[in-house]
Amino acid sequence: FSSHLEKAARLILHATHTTAFTGAGISVESGIPPFRGREGLWSRYDPGCLDLDAFYRDPTQTWTLIKEIFYDFFGRAKPNPGHISLAEMEKAGYLQAVITQNIDSLHHQAGSRNIIEFHGTSGRLKCTRCGKVIPFEPSYLKQLPPLCRSCGGILKPDFIFFGEAIPYKAYDASIEEARIADVFLIIGTTGEVVPASSVPWQAKTHGAAIIEINPEPSAYTHAITDIYLQGKAGEILPDLIQSIEVIS
Ligand code: NAD
Repeated sequence: FSSHLEKAARLILHATHTTAFTGAGISVESGIPPFRGREGLWSRYDPGCLDLDAFYRDPTQTWTLIKEIFYDFFGRAKPNPGHISLAEMEKAGYLQAVITQNIDSLHHQAGSRNIIEFHGTSGRLKCTRCGKVIPFEPSYLKQLPPLCRSCGGILKPDFIFFGEAIPYKAYDASIEEARIADVFLIIGTTGEVVPASSVPWQAKTHGAAIIEINPEPSAYTHAITDIYLQGKAGEILPDLIQSIEVIS
């Protein structure tokens, strides 16, 4: 395993452009479970809260659940050593971008700068009437549904619900990041959520070396991964930084 870690460290050290692609797994050690699986969020909550039709049919009821999951519960989470390591790698010049499927804004809180939020973020609200996008503030949730202070329209979290299109800017930027990367890190994702799952394939097609961190093999592991570092992001990423520093 240590030789895998050293190989990965050397690749990153000599790369001109390294991009990280993260999924729900990187936030597990912050106390946010993934959606699916036995311990997953959907075993406790109704995924119907992310249904766009339900949202428009009954915004108050839908917002009650959204508040509970994505603001009260996610809001208590703090960045873990995995998020913090990625921010440190960026600061040190070893990482150029993070593409995340997560909506919990923990990469922001950890200090990462160049972040592409593929599915949007709970850190912003968007007016369903005038389209204005505003930073989230707890005061908006005193009354549900929260209303736009400019036009009175109903606010929605600025992340995508089931059936909504991917924000095209985030999609284009992700494909570009995958295209120019010579090293591509896949961290904590099963690779089963389309179209986000196609981004690492783009990186592979354009010649990037693929390094994967996950305690369990994913759809990528036996298909495109060059170096598989099996384990938790919050443990492997700090080791990876240490290994880069020892070599450099
Ligand atoms: P997923 O739920 O399909 O898979 C999670 C992956 O993380 C699994 O492969 C699992 O083995 C791995 N994992 C578990 N613990 C880990 C750890 N400590 N370190 C590294 N990896 C670990 O997640 P997904 O593929 O991201 O797809 C679900 C969709 O729902 C995604 O869009 C995801 O971003 C979103 N989601 C977001 C959050 C969040 O914002 N935190 C939470 C749940 C789901």
